[in-house]
Amino acid sequence: MTSDGYLRTNRTFFHGENLLSVAVSMDTKLDTECSTLQAGSFSIWLGRLRKALRTGTGMAVPCGTCTACCRSSYFIHIKPDEIETLKRIDRALLFPAPGRAKGTLLLGYDEKGCCPLLINGACSIYKYRPLTCRTYDCRIFSAAGIAAGGEDKQQITQQARRWRFSYPAKRDRYQHEAVRAAASFLQKAAESFPAGFVPGNAGELAVLAVKVFGVFIKYGYDADNLAYPSADHRIVKAVIAALEKFEKSKSAYYGPSGMRSR
Ligand code: SF4
Ligand code: SF4
Repeated sequence: MTSDGYLRTNRTFFHGENLLSVAVSMDTKLDTECSTLQAGSFSIWLGRLRKALRTGTGMAVPCGTCTACCRSSYFIHIKPDEIETLKRIDRALLFPAPGRAKGTLLLGYDEKGCCPLLINGACSIYKYRPLTCRTYDCRIFSAAGIAAGGEDKQQITQQARRWRFSYPAKRDRYQHEAVRAAASFLQKAAESFPAGFVPGNAGELAVLAVKVFGVFIKYGYDADNLAYPSADHRIVKAVIAALEKFEKSKSAYYGPSGMRSR
């Protein structure tokens, strides 16, 4: 750390097609990375996120000046009914999303992992940003007790670690324990689920934990208990059923076509 409070470090980056390991002076203000952020009551946050996942409405995240998730090598999925968003994105930046519903497009990122719509440190289509961006909330990693991903998601992991939930009522704490237990169980017992059920992607895993956390209140699992019996098929079956129930409640809103019906 230098006397002005900045950290100088070495970074590896891509240049053209070559991976270069070059000493670069990175100015990283340490105080902003270390201070904590108030995430509010856990139960209120959880209820809002589950509603957002069901209805496709956004989450109001007090991001401040943070743009970490716009600079972390994410492919952004955009559904064909996001017409106002699609109107504002250069078609050359979009390409078909493999394995997704017909018409779903992907917005990529540049060689530094930045979304091409992040201009001068701000989203250039903020009001019309994709639904994926509007529902993104890095507090989910703090809730699930997991990192946001590998090296390219480090900035998000750092930001997520700053959030502090509050527990004004008993249920705030046991719901948080249940979300952590769900994320932990899904990882440790992944092989007991049908192939592909447990996502390899940290964000999708955390979302799955939020969708099925109720099972872990019922069975009283402890996130710090390392001895999960992978053969506990009661829990595996209950998790699969809980996800089906959640997705059904979502399709009631989206309709059979998968498009938002209101
Ligand atoms: S990483 Fe979190 S705080 Fe930062 S912009 Fe994304 S959602 Fe907001
Ligand atoms: S579209 Fe906007 S909000 Fe979404 S990743 Fe790009 S810059 Fe960030």
